[in-house]
Amino acid sequence: MSIRVQNLSKQYGKQKALDNISFQTQSNRIIGFLGPNGAGKSTTMKILTGILPIEDGQCWINDIDLKFNSLEAKRTIGYLPENNPLYLEMYVQEMLHFQASLYQVKNIEKRISKVIERTGLQQEQHKKIKELSKGYKQRVGLACAIIHDPKVLILDEPTTGLDPNQIIEIRQLIRELAQDKTVLLSTHLMQEVEAICDEIIVIHQGQIKDQFLLKDKQERY
Ligand code: ADP
Ligand code: ADP
Repeated sequence: MSIRVQNLSKQYGKQKALDNISFQTQSNRIIGFLGPNGAGKSTTMKILTGILPIEDGQCWINDIDLKFNSLEAKRTIGYLPENNPLYLEMYVQEMLHFQASLYQVKNIEKRISKVIERTGLQQEQHKKIKELSKGYKQRVGLACAIIHDPKVLILDEPTTGLDPNQIIEIRQLIRELAQDKTVLLSTHLMQEVEAICDEIIVIHQGQIKDQFLLKDKQERY
């Protein structure tokens, strides 16, 4: 599925966060959304996921207009927020049950075991989230994001705060999960884009500065 944003603007009071941004992505690619802190990445993602309303501009997932079909859009989108807010006292299984029920997932038990397997959480599923390393917490966040089998994944700074080994593992997992999905992944690190993305969109001070394909994609995979 493709993501299309057209003439999107957003202000927080007098602070302009997005200044008339437009971009379009192809399906089944990992798109790096690159920009420094404050560029407008999270704001764009919060609008795409329906956390913030569209006030000015338009967004589509394929032909679903987010303004008029936000529920349908939610079903097609999985979201990993920045700083991954998990319920630390919950068990991994419990967290996934909770997330699955929010999305009215069918055959819950079967789906949860599949997601646990895909995210490499087999050994951790009966632990409390607070007992897990940051890398495994991030796996739980990704498991929550894919529980309803979305075709679009929106990942806000998914490797920030992880140590170098955890970064490698989470990048690898994102690549695996991305096989049948369109992924928009924000980062302030060009390295991250080079490591896993097929395409890059550069945002700075609320404006899109550039968008291009990364050519050596095939060799890197
Ligand atoms: P990011 O790393 O994406 O820039 P921030 O650290 O700026 O995120 O923001 C963290 C949280 O605080 C976000 O939910 C954001 O919406 C909110 N926030 C950011 N800047 C401000 C601000 N100037 N006033 C109030 N809330 C803000
Ligand atoms: P990024 O994710 O690229 O770091 P954000 O989308 O978080 O950027 O922020 C874009 C701009 O909007 C920044 O100047 C930030 O301080 C401001 N901002 C973000 N959230 C809020 C908020 N809740 N209230 C006020 N200003 C905000």
